[in-house]
Parts: sequence; C-alpha cells; structure tokens
Amino acid sequence: MTAFTVCIPAAGSGTRMNSSTPKQYLPLLGRAVLLQTLDVFLGMKSCTRIVIATDDETTVHNLLGDMLSSGKITIVRGGARRQDSVEHALAAIHGDDDTVVLVHDAARPCVAVDDVRSVAETAALHGAAVLAVQARDTLKEVHGGTVERTLDRDVIWQAQTPQGARASLFRRAFVHAKEQGITATDDVSLIEAMGFPVHVVNGQHNNIKITNPEDIAIAETILRLQGRG
Ligand code: C5P
Repeated sequence: MTAFTVCIPAAGSGTRMNSSTPKQYLPLLGRAVLLQTLDVFLGMKSCTRIVIATDDETTVHNLLGDMLSSGKITIVRGGARRQDSVEHALAAIHGDDDTVVLVHDAARPCVAVDDVRSVAETAALHGAAVLAVQARDTLKEVHGGTVERTLDRDVIWQAQTPQGARASLFRRAFVHAKEQGITATDDVSLIEAMGFPVHVVNGQHNNIKITNPEDIAIAETILRLQGRG
C-alpha cells in the first residue's frame, strides 16, 4: 500500500455548466460534487493528507464543517489557471521529497478507489503516472471547421486524474514550466515536458469530469451503479 498526499484543484468557475454556482458545489445525489470526491480519499487509509485549492475558502469551510477537525485537510488559495491552483497546493506540502503526490480534479467524483491506488503505486515505482483510457472514437484535429488530420486511434489515450509523481519531481516540473513559459491543462504534461517518462495506468470511461449540465445526471447514475447512491 503506497501512502500518498492528494492535491485537489477546486477553483474553477465552471463556465461550461451554464450555472452561477461552480460545478464543484453543485448537488450530486444530495451532496456537493466536491464532498463526493473527498469521500473517495477520506475513505482510503493510504491517503495521509488532502490539500484543496479553492477561490472560495468560506464556502469550502462551510461545506466541510466537522471534516476539518481530522487535521488531514488543508485549504489553500486557487489560481487563475488550473496549473496555478495545483502549484499553490504543491507549495503547501512541505518537506519529504519522496512523498507520492496525486493530483485529482474536484470535478471527478466517480473515480474508483482501486484506480487511485494503482496510480499511487505506479508513481512510487516509476516516478510518474497518469490514469487514462484508450480513445473509443476516432479523433480529428480540426482547424476553422475543416479536418486537418485524423489521429491514429490505436495510440490515442484520454488523460484523466489522478495523476501522480514524487513531490520532488512535481516541484521540478513546475519550476521548469515557469522558466519555459509552459501552460498545460493537466499535471503530468509538465513532467513530460522535461523528457521524463510518465507511465499510463489503464482507467475506466466512467471516471467522467463533470463539465456540462447533463453530466450531473450521468454522474449520479454512475455513483448509483458503484453502490455509492
Ligand atoms: O476547467 P477544468 O474542467 O479543466 O477543471 C478541472 C479541475 O480544475 C476542476 O476541479 C476545477 O475546479 C479545477 N480548476 C482550478 N483552478 C482553475 C481552473 C480549474 O482549481 N483556475
């Protein structure tokens, strides 16, 4: 069992949800999306620390209530980009360079515990890991409404979270990204950008990221199927 710290970026505004409430606070089977996501990690003995990046500390404090008394959860300020939110969360993890750090989107409440465990173990063994699924559809690169090229589906994977690495590697990658002016929409991209190998852990298509309004109903169905409803 690999012990790990998880950073949860939860500072997005969720503009694609058409809702004034950011998606991480929307109700999912009667509990906020963020709380459903936290349940996964709070239920894992190997998760020793949780750092949440938010742009609304009051709402998160109120939502978490008694959960904060465990001392396991730290709340930090989010940033303008997801990458900035993760950087703030990483800065809150002091010391031990060997600690395995996972990053997991607040908006992915349906992740399976076994998959979280596999990413932590793979990151501990190889240095860096990403949960991903092989593309089911054929993906096309489109510019101005016209197909530029068709990607070879056999080698295309869709990155999910968690993504993980030893704390020292993540720190180096974020410093390198700053120096090189690299912006990425996921975390291990910054490790890839240093030429370091990132191992893929085969995940599940039902680890959806709540993005559009209809995703709430889909996530509720998935949670019920998982026996979490
Ligand atoms: O915007 P996207 O769907 O990629 O967001 C993924 C996760 O990153 C969400 O949990 C969101 O709250 C978080 N995020 C963040 N800070 C930002 C933008 C997004 O923590 N500035």
